[in-house]
Amino acid sequence: RLFNLVQELRGNIRVFARCRPPSKKELSSGDESSTICVEFPADGEVAMKNEKGKEKNWEFDQVFNTGSTQEQVYKEVSPLVTSVLDGFNVCIFAYGQTGTGKTFTMMGPESNRGVNTRALYELFDMSQQRRSTIEDKITVSVLEVYNEQIKDLLAEDVGERKYTVREGPHGNYVPDLTMVNVDSLDEVIELLALADLNRSTAKTNMNEHSSRSHLILSCYIVSTNKHSGEVSRGKLHLIDLAGSERVGKSGAKGLALKEAQNINKSLSALGDVIAARGSGSSHIPFRNSTLTQLLQDSLSADSKTLMFVCISPVMYNSEEGFCSLNFAERAR
Ligand code: ADP
Ligand code: MG
Repeated sequence: RLFNLVQELRGNIRVFARCRPPSKKELSSGDESSTICVEFPADGEVAMKNEKGKEKNWEFDQVFNTGSTQEQVYKEVSPLVTSVLDGFNVCIFAYGQTGTGKTFTMMGPESNRGVNTRALYELFDMSQQRRSTIEDKITVSVLEVYNEQIKDLLAEDVGERKYTVREGPHGNYVPDLTMVNVDSLDEVIELLALADLNRSTAKTNMNEHSSRSHLILSCYIVSTNKHSGEVSRGKLHLIDLAGSERVGKSGAKGLALKEAQNINKSLSALGDVIAARGSGSSHIPFRNSTLTQLLQDSLSADSKTLMFVCISPVMYNSEEGFCSLNFAERAR
């Protein structure tokens, strides 16, 4: 109860850290730069040291170590997800350097699914269970934010079309964005496959592209009580953010420079919004990036936000690891 109270006071912002296991290559390298630089001193704590011997300890709402499973992670996310059925707006982000497990955590491989499909599975399941009293209409959209531009990944003509964010009666929305009514997880999985295909079309290097754009799977639920006629609305945004590494630090020009600036802009705008909310500030700077504008009504004080900060366990990533953990600490 005390824990819940503390969370309420913190404006419903939670931060979970997750450290991926070392890869086979890192394990077998024997190189000093591949030594493990992360420790888990206690529940909710993570410690990291860098090449110069600097050490720091961070505390988060949850810390998942290299052995944590998708199931263990989802178990802690589940209460947030199900609150969407009670009319809450929820954002779940994965933040971190490219290669630290953001996509693994959110999407996961087919045989070991992450938060996205587990969340939708649970929503369908709970909705099914309560259908004698409440009818839920579930709709999804999948979009990408790249260079501050929105791209509808479920559109028939994914292309050069320009989308803008507007204010509507039920929060901010994107006019003409494809919204698909869904009844089962299978349908969602199909849509995600379509989004994936649309995202990668004409991309020569998909990994590079996905590390520079934000992917947002949104799920909108309109619930009608069959007896009273009362209607409630909840939204769940599941967001795989662009890589937080300082891209093109040196000598980036043209598009690469613009990309880097836009990524920094949206990630720092997100950090500012979350920090302002956490501190109880009355001014929350939503308008500074497409991402925060888009998610405005799901990032406001009466909504729930969870940030996963993903880190690598090895020394050569420790500088970025420090930055990510510090960013997440500020959000908290
Ligand atoms: P990101 O999306 O942050 O760039 P990925 O999710 O693609 O990172 O992860 C990078 C690599 O590490 C992938 O091969 C992925 O399968 C693996 N990986 C990440 N997190 C885990 C984990 N918790 N357990 C096992 N493998 C992981
Ligand atoms: Mg990724």
